[in-house]
Amino acid sequence: MEEARQAPSLAVSIQGLCKWYGSVQVLHDVDLKVATGEKIVICGPSGSGKSTLIRCINGLESHHAGRIVANGVELDGRTRGLEAIRREVGMVFQSFNLFPHLTILENLTIAPMLVRGTRRREAEALAMNYLERVHIPEQARKFPLQLSGGQQQRVAIARALCMQPKIMLFDEPTSALDPEMIKEVLDVMLELADTGMTMLVVTHEMGFARTVADRVVFMADGRKVEEGAPNRIFDHPQTERAHAFFRQVL
Ligand code: ADP
Ligand code: MG
Repeated sequence: MEEARQAPSLAVSIQGLCKWYGSVQVLHDVDLKVATGEKIVICGPSGSGKSTLIRCINGLESHHAGRIVANGVELDGRTRGLEAIRREVGMVFQSFNLFPHLTILENLTIAPMLVRGTRRREAEALAMNYLERVHIPEQARKFPLQLSGGQQQRVAIARALCMQPKIMLFDEPTSALDPEMIKEVLDVMLELADTGMTMLVVTHEMGFARTVADRVVFMADGRKVEEGAPNRIFDHPQTERAHAFFRQVL
């Protein structure tokens, strides 16, 4: 019988992470420790390995060297670890990835029913609860393409939350949105941050980073080049790479 485990104080521990695509090394010896409840913003130029890094954390990509422990479970390629991680680690993508042929409510209930074995009524109650939290309960019976991009992304956030994850990963969640919709998604993420959720967010929304992030990680060429408090790293970057990057995006 499995012992009841307390929430580990380290939500994510990454040590010496390396990954190759074919013969190309895209992550070089990355170390990152994330405390439970901590908010990390990851930024850096296109192709620097940000997506690959966070996809490794929920096992969407395998790694070739180093260790990843998420919510107390080591990701070593074994199926049991993978299943445990996918249940505990939610992910939100740039491109929403909702099922177009299912209603919003069905999009939210399918994984809890299939993966967690939650009964329909309970899954629907949970889904409505999270749709209220992202401020669109009235959209429950519609289909994804009837919603705006900002609404679809809020559904994607609610869908991830329906699995009641311990850790949430966001990969450029506002990059595909029209400017007027960015704020409604960032506001939902701010509210989620206030609940104490552990969050790793790839974003170039520096206002969000300054408000929410405990730490900002700057990546370039598959390496973690710098990390620090947002104000320190944005206003006083220590490396030329970070300086040049922030000069462009800030
Ligand atoms: P970022 O998210 O910072 O833009 P990525 O993690 O997407 O960076 O990509 C890091 C590097 O890995 C890039 O050089 C990219 O071209 C390469 N890459 C990403 N995904 C794949 C893949 N599936 N196959 C081969 N190369 C990939
Ligand atoms: Mg990316």
